[in-house]
This record gives sequence, C-alpha cells and structure tokens, in this order.
Amino acid sequence: MTSSPGAEDATDWAAFERSLGDRIQHVDGNAVAGQLAQIFRGDMTAATGRCRHCTSETVFAEARVELDTSGFILRCPSCTRVLFTVVSNDKRTWVDLQGIEGISLPS
Ligand SMILES: [Zn+2]
Repeated sequence: MTSSPGAEDATDWAAFERSLGDRIQHVDGNAVAGQLAQIFRGDMTAATGRCRHCTSETVFAEARVELDTSGFILRCPSCTRVLFTVVSNDKRTWVDLQGIEGISLPS
C-alpha cells in the first residue's frame, strides 16, 4: 500500500495513540473553547468545520480533541482524521488547518 506524504491511516493512528499512553488526554471541543476563542477571536464552540477527508460537517464543540501540554489536535468524529492542530510555546502559537475545507460561524 502506498500513501502520500502526510496521509494518515486511522488504524495506524490507533497504534500511535496507544504508544502515547498517558501523555495525551482525550476530551471534546468544549475543553479547548478558551484556546479556540483566543486564536479565532471569538466563541468557536458553535462553529462548524467541513472535514477535508470525509466532507462531514463537525461542530467544534463535538470534535474529538487530543490535548497535551504543548497544544491540541481536533479530530473529525466521523473519520477520526485531523481537522486542525494547535501547538504553542511561550512566544508563539502555530495553527495548522489543513484538514478543514472551510469553517462556518454563527452570524
Ligand atoms: Zn472526516
């Protein structure tokens, strides 16, 4: 089986998660509401994003979140692939949105 660079396989991810053990917490999008509000300058819990991999719409508050001390990963609840990643240190925050085709916000 071949895969493109950066492609993820859900089965491989499950093995990776097991290898991480207790270093990450599994929560939902409400757990990172404060960080999302800082990045996007507003409440994002009711925002939705369209998964680039399976095209399902996900309410951010209901996304699967993997949280550790350096940041978090939001995953699509339908296909488990990465929607976006946030990593911070004491000087900067990096946001990778490559798993999302678009974001919809309440007006
Ligand atoms: Zn998906």
